[in-house]
Amino acid sequence: MNWLDIDKEHVWHPYNSLPSRSTLLPVKSTDKTTIFLETGEELIDGMSSWWSAIHGYNNPRLNEALKSQVEIMPHIMFGGLAHEKAAVLSKLLVDITGLHSVFLCDSGSVSVEVSLKTAIQYQEAKGLKKYKFLACEHAYHGDTLAAMSVCDPNNSMHSIYGSYLPKHIFTKAPALGFDSDCSEAIEALELNFEKHHEELAGFIIEPIVQGAGGMRIYNPIYLKKARELCDKYDVLFIADEIATGFGHTGKMFACEWADIKPDILTLGKGLTGGYMTMAAMITSKNVSQTISNSDLGILMHGPTFMANPLACAVAIESINLLLETSWQERVLKIEKIFQEELKDAKNIKIVKDIRNIGAIGVIELKDESHAQEIQDYCVKNGVWIRPFGKLIYSIVAYTIEENDLRKVVQVMIEAIKTIKSK
Ligand SMILES: *Cc1c(COP(=O)(O)O)cnc(C)c1O
Repeated sequence: MNWLDIDKEHVWHPYNSLPSRSTLLPVKSTDKTTIFLETGEELIDGMSSWWSAIHGYNNPRLNEALKSQVEIMPHIMFGGLAHEKAAVLSKLLVDITGLHSVFLCDSGSVSVEVSLKTAIQYQEAKGLKKYKFLACEHAYHGDTLAAMSVCDPNNSMHSIYGSYLPKHIFTKAPALGFDSDCSEAIEALELNFEKHHEELAGFIIEPIVQGAGGMRIYNPIYLKKARELCDKYDVLFIADEIATGFGHTGKMFACEWADIKPDILTLGKGLTGGYMTMAAMITSKNVSQTISNSDLGILMHGPTFMANPLACAVAIESINLLLETSWQERVLKIEKIFQEELKDAKNIKIVKDIRNIGAIGVIELKDESHAQEIQDYCVKNGVWIRPFGKLIYSIVAYTIEENDLRKVVQVMIEAIKTIKSK
């Protein structure tokens, strides 16, 4: 039995069946922005492993950071013990976010869980019984149960889990488009705050780009307004920048587009440059002090692999590498190339919309029946993308070569045209 057969028989893949219903491509190795398959084929990586490999793969500095840390200390429990790499990473995160208190955990979904627990504990500390969250339609905040409960109920896995999930409040998502008028969504937001503020612990949102719930880019004015409302009603503003963080929208953090600071920020995906699973929840000093000064006085969470030193070491190197390079120029250049190349898709009959910002390019189709076909065509033509539903999109490493990026978009468009002409 070769290993791919074992995999197909015994190993779950994301949102898949066993044995696997869809094709699984055997990856042999990676380098920079190329994926090498066991079959000898090479693919240009148009996904950066779900927003994470922002520097491309096998970066010598990141490899070295990991190798040297493994000799020093691969892991140590974080209960009652401290280590330098966690402190250095946390100080870096504090410096680049302007926030204060860092909780290092395993994955994006866990950081969202912790952010919800933190918000509830904050309100409890103030003597308030506020257990609901306000979230947006089209929101995606992760796959664990509490994270799932703040995902759009009509656009996610809610219904599968019946009445298990807590019921939160959902408000109209801002209109599509960075420059679009979002006053309708703002009105709905105001109404929801007025009506529900007494039970709201927090408002959670993906700033500027709603990711897995629709790759929706929207106007920063919406965030400014939401910040005002959170202040007015003492509802915590939770920015989920697990996807948008570390430069993906052209700013280090997408909240910067609206010139606002959240009370709680979640980071993940790009945090370790795509090397290790790690996420962070970062809060203002007000939040951590309020909880620490309460009767309970502690934040009730502590995963086994909290602040894993290997992950910390590679995250430090990844952030330093980003800060030392002209990443913003590169992302702007990527944005320009996406814009130029995507134009060609606009007039294809089955295309509903094209949009892009920073290192993200999206083609939305009118219906969702073509995702697998489009993926297959792209793979056959040397490009790795992973469409979902109607969304054919690419998020690239900031180090991608211009020609490779142009090819990614051109092949995506060819794939769509092939379908149209059938
Ligand atoms: C991916 C993602 C998550 C979940 O992160 P995992 O590491 O997959 O658990 C949460 N929120 C947003 C916005 C994401 O894009």
